[in-house]
Amino acid sequence: MKAVRNDTAAIVLAAGRGTRMHTAVAKQFLLLDGKPLIYYSLRAFEESPVERIILVCREGESSWCRTEIIGRFGFKKVTAIVCGGKERYHSVYAGLCAAGESLSDRGLVLIHDGARPLIARTVIERTMEEAAQYQACVAAMPVKDTIKTADAERFAEKTLDRSRLWQIQTPQVFSYGLVKGAYDRMLTDPRYQKGVTDDAMVVETMTGVRVRLVEGGYENIKVTTPEDLILAEALLKHEGACSGKDA
Ligand code: C5P
Repeated sequence: MKAVRNDTAAIVLAAGRGTRMHTAVAKQFLLLDGKPLIYYSLRAFEESPVERIILVCREGESSWCRTEIIGRFGFKKVTAIVCGGKERYHSVYAGLCAAGESLSDRGLVLIHDGARPLIARTVIERTMEEAAQYQACVAAMPVKDTIKTADAERFAEKTLDRSRLWQIQTPQVFSYGLVKGAYDRMLTDPRYQKGVTDDAMVVETMTGVRVRLVEGGYENIKVTTPEDLILAEALLKHEGACSGKDA
């Protein structure tokens, strides 16, 4: 771990529109226990061994983020705020380009959904350790529900083998040169851009490198729909009560 600690950056994504939340305010700025949702991810990386943080926000929101999030909460590791793009992978690429200003190809880049406020420091550290060993890893948990595919008329088609299914979370952590190269190639060919929902998929498709699944946490939910906000608030209160610190 020591060897990689001086060559690490986290990209925190907050450039989504959050349309499934059905609110006027973008979900990353909705209040969770009195603080904007994005505060919690930034705090987790601020308190982690990661050296630098790049915040990716929507066009027109960077000065608000600088004063109302970075300035107000005194985050010291945020070295750049960049504008994201239409799809998540466009936002990731903007973050990767900014990260390249300080990272070597062998450095580690952690890509995290700002909409996952309950990311634990232990998960951040575990993914960094495994990425240092395997070049590519993602936080993940075994699925709890039975998962079926559906046909075009929404009838059950096939039941997948649950013992091999994992739900994929973030952080997704890679050697910088590996993931930047994979993204560069993916962006030159529209065929590879269809249905890209995470970074591991880009590395899997564009390189021969295997992506290691690392134990994340069931509490590491992505706040997507209104009920997730209620759940996140309850989990945050529980975490605060358990650690005895102010959430
Ligand atoms: O849309 P999805 O749920 O996959 O979003 C996951 C994360 O990616 C969120 O934190 C969201 O803000 C971010 N995102 C982004 N730019 C986009 C789409 C999503 O930064 N164009």
